[in-house]
Amino acid sequence: MSTDILLDVQNVTRRFGGLVANSDVSVEVRRGEILGLIGPNGAGKSTLFNLIAGAFPPNEGSIRFEGQDIARLSGPARCRLGIARTFQVPRSFDSMSVLDNVMVGAFAKEPGSAAARRVAYETLAFCGLQQRAPAPAGELTPPEKRRLEVARALATKPKLLLLDEVMTGLTPSEARLGVELVRKVRDQGVTVVMVEHVMEIVMPLVDRAVVLNLGKVLAEGKPRDVVRDDAVITAYLGE
Ligand code: ADP
Ligand code: MG
Repeated sequence: MSTDILLDVQNVTRRFGGLVANSDVSVEVRRGEILGLIGPNGAGKSTLFNLIAGAFPPNEGSIRFEGQDIARLSGPARCRLGIARTFQVPRSFDSMSVLDNVMVGAFAKEPGSAAARRVAYETLAFCGLQQRAPAPAGELTPPEKRRLEVARALATKPKLLLLDEVMTGLTPSEARLGVELVRKVRDQGVTVVMVEHVMEIVMPLVDRAVVLNLGKVLAEGKPRDVVRDDAVITAYLGE
């Protein structure tokens, strides 16, 4: 694996009123890796994704993508640079077809509708949803909706994919398929950061893990070292 840094988050702080959701957070994401972002509920994981994807700017700190300072760019501008994310609560357009939902993503890079449609079909096939292409998104099962989230993000042809709890609520066999899909995405050359609550799912899959707790980075390293870290064990037991 290359040690080239794709995304460099340095000393980022984000407050909501008096609440410090991210406090002096620094995370480096290496090109080609799968990085796990874990931590108890309310640790600040989704906030960090929002900061990276451009939902809102940090109060302090810098965010660099391929060396470029992106901290003040809009979400769509970051998407064009190659950052895509899924939402913890799936955000499909339920009355639109599954295909059209994915075309929304594809249009980010393919302004022509024929090209966008082709990309959308390819992405649906990649995600195992091709048979559902004509169905209204509202008719998908919960695990299919998670796949649709991933497909819409992938259709933007990202360099960096941020997955926010895409395995939550899946049965063990569905989660295995999800893990397989994430590996396939990485094998296509896409760098992945995944927030996942269930350690048993995420730890065997990721190359490195960063643990957030109370808005701060608590630990980082190889999964096998992180799960043995006393501070990490205490944070999880304290839930
Ligand atoms: P996690 O994803 O790790 O569960 P979040 O990043 O969603 O945690 O939330 C961290 C803290 O920031 C929580 O206390 C949450 O209520 C708060 N928070 C997150 N987003 C907002 C927001 N847009 N406005 C106000 N508070 C927020
Ligand atoms: Mg969250």
